[in-house]
Amino acid sequence: MKTQLLKVNEDSIALGAKLIREGELVGFPTETVYGLGANALDAEAVVKIFEAKGRPQDNPLIVHICGMEMLNGIVSEVPERAKKLAAAFWPGPLTMVMPRGPEVSDVTCAGLDTVGVRMPSHPVVQQVIKASGVAFAAPSANLSGKPSPTNAPDTLADMDGRLPLILDGGESNVGVESTVVAVTGEHPMLLRPGYITKEQMEAVLGEEVLVSPAILEKLKDGEVARSPGMKYKHYAPKAQVTILRGDFAKYKEFIKQHTEPGVWALCFDGEGAQLGVPFIEYGKNHDGVTQAHHLFTALRDLDKHGAQVVYARCPEQDGVSMAVYNRLIRAAAFRVVEL
Ligand code: AMP
Ligand code: MG
Repeated sequence: MKTQLLKVNEDSIALGAKLIREGELVGFPTETVYGLGANALDAEAVVKIFEAKGRPQDNPLIVHICGMEMLNGIVSEVPERAKKLAAAFWPGPLTMVMPRGPEVSDVTCAGLDTVGVRMPSHPVVQQVIKASGVAFAAPSANLSGKPSPTNAPDTLADMDGRLPLILDGGESNVGVESTVVAVTGEHPMLLRPGYITKEQMEAVLGEEVLVSPAILEKLKDGEVARSPGMKYKHYAPKAQVTILRGDFAKYKEFIKQHTEPGVWALCFDGEGAQLGVPFIEYGKNHDGVTQAHHLFTALRDLDKHGAQVVYARCPEQDGVSMAVYNRLIRAAAFRVVEL
């Protein structure tokens, strides 16, 4: 299959909508990362997503909508908490796991009785959903296991020959995938951290949001993941990544002892030149927003440079930094060294 990469305009959006209606896949920008969409109600179309990504079929997809009325049939009920969170954060980078409705296909939900739904704020994905008239099942547009693409060239690098069209709408602003929160249980529970933080949701809900243990720690053998995406090694470049937890002085000291060829530093802005090894900087220290924006491009760039061993500065674990830590620790397959 030949993959077209087209700049966003009226014609390319109309083509995207037509392909979706015909049961094809389309790649497009969202505010979080680039996505790979199919008609969420068409099981045959959704199966193509799993094939294109090489994604295990027990990992559910998020359903993307462009208006509250589209929830009809996709969820069986909109819980009170979901209404509050939607009023505060939709359209935006928040996915809510709700009771599943009759219209959404089994493959989209990986057989679960819940469905994750999000209303993205990026105008391009909104326009393609609107023009096609159907909700999209859409995961990130990377090959399964690799870092999510945050621009059209990285999307093409993974998806060339696997789908007919990628819409180029520039760089994704947020840089990490949406926050996922389950709103059905006795307490709301954060299943995947993102740009919308636990603290922001608690302020809107007036109650505690629990944090699934799988977010910051490795699941124990036999432990069941609430959100199937949690259990795979994920977001990983080819290089072996290790997180070094400690301040910059200790990090610098460690790197000085490890200057072999193939070693790269993944550090914060302004730090690299002091290290004596090749480096990529991924945002400001203590600033989860800039780190989230740069992390996945940095991981992909390390591969482009042929890095073999990567020592990464450790992000914080609250606010947006929780999302950065969650992705980086999976890219590192949970290798963390305490300095
Ligand atoms: P991606 O599509 O790559 O952004 O990943 C989607 C992630 O959303 C999955 O890996 C799950 O972690 C989460 N998710 C989607 N639907 C559900 C659901 N019904 N229940 C729990 N988690 C979900
Ligand atoms: Mg993904």
